[in-house]
Amino acid sequence: MLDLACRCCGARRVELVIDLTDQPHCNRLVRQELPARTEPHYALRLGFCRDCTMVQIDHTIPKESMFSDYPYVSGTTKTLPAHFADTSRRIAAAYGLGPQDLVVDIGSNDGTWLKQYTPFGCRVLGVEAAANVAKLAQDAGIRTWQRFFNEDCARDILAEFGPAKIVTAAGVFFHLEELHSVVRGIEQLLTEDGVFVVQAIYLGGMVENTAFDQVYHEHLCYYTLRSLSALLERHGLEVFEATLVPIHGGTIEAHVARRGRRNVGDSVRAMQAEETRKGFGEIATYQRLARNVLALREKLVALLEDYRARGRSVWAYGAPAKGATLLNSFGIGPDLVEKAVERNPMKIGLAIPGVRIPIVEETADAKPDAYLVLAWNFIDEFLKNPANIAFMQGGGEFIVPIPNVQVVGAGGVRQV
Ligand SMILES: [Zn+2]
Repeated sequence: MLDLACRCCGARRVELVIDLTDQPHCNRLVRQELPARTEPHYALRLGFCRDCTMVQIDHTIPKESMFSDYPYVSGTTKTLPAHFADTSRRIAAAYGLGPQDLVVDIGSNDGTWLKQYTPFGCRVLGVEAAANVAKLAQDAGIRTWQRFFNEDCARDILAEFGPAKIVTAAGVFFHLEELHSVVRGIEQLLTEDGVFVVQAIYLGGMVENTAFDQVYHEHLCYYTLRSLSALLERHGLEVFEATLVPIHGGTIEAHVARRGRRNVGDSVRAMQAEETRKGFGEIATYQRLARNVLALREKLVALLEDYRARGRSVWAYGAPAKGATLLNSFGIGPDLVEKAVERNPMKIGLAIPGVRIPIVEETADAKPDAYLVLAWNFIDEFLKNPANIAFMQGGGEFIVPIPNVQVVGAGGVRQV
């Protein structure tokens, strides 16, 4: 049993399922010359609450240390803005947004999502704790408060703008240290018939894809519909629609209203049944995931050692947070993956913490024999890129580590 009161229900029945060893904070990139292991390392352990089924990590790095300055920018890839444009169109159509309505986005990052509401003429407000990305949004003309969302923040929004018809949170809901204060704040901020739309990495998708690399210190909780509902119901809220969207290798999108305010749709019952059938509420499922992670490690490390033995160079394609988890958990350092190439200028010149793989700018002329694709969830976008097609036609390969170890080249896909 982990020494932790469940983040959702408070029971001290959270059982350890996966120990990924001590790791540094994945998004705190380090200077390349910093001596090894001088950055702080923290336990990274995944537990399962035997009472409410919430899957969570036990160690909390204070949010002020993780989110005051943030290198992840939503607008960097092409996939995310398109995804947000689609989601905002669906929300506007379903709930009839007009000029008087207020949309509040929690963890609004660089404003990529709120920007998509421009055609509907409604008022928007972003709440973003990281000063650097909040400023990007403000500079782009998206009204953004730089602070953490919680009950106090909700009260200040109510006082200044009134209640919100729509509150959204994408890719932040698993971050929340003040989980209950945030949900209370959402409940207070919504109009009587308001809707909270939450998107979070889906634990079921993580299980099915062996996507353990989503486990990092920023992600405190990992949701199924069942555990998300358990949390919301404690605060008088209810999921009335639930769907899975393919972003980030599997994301749950839940539409939430005050309890009893809207009819609970078939989508909710269908997903509940599916989760029961697949055992997502049972600890054995997560113990099996732990075994699959070990098997993945053996395959990937053996493959990279084989490349090294044949004198073939491997670089990482991108340096996302999840890549730090994968590399540190598997002990893959610069001896196997020489460097990582990136487009995000905030990361270039630094190194992936822990394993110290240097991050360099992606250029047209320098290429390795193979890229390890750490942002494997964007593989389809990468493979459509003409430069990457040319790279493969010249004999280059992409090593995709998850959900299965695969090598993609001009000749097709090889399973490892
Ligand atoms: Zn619990």
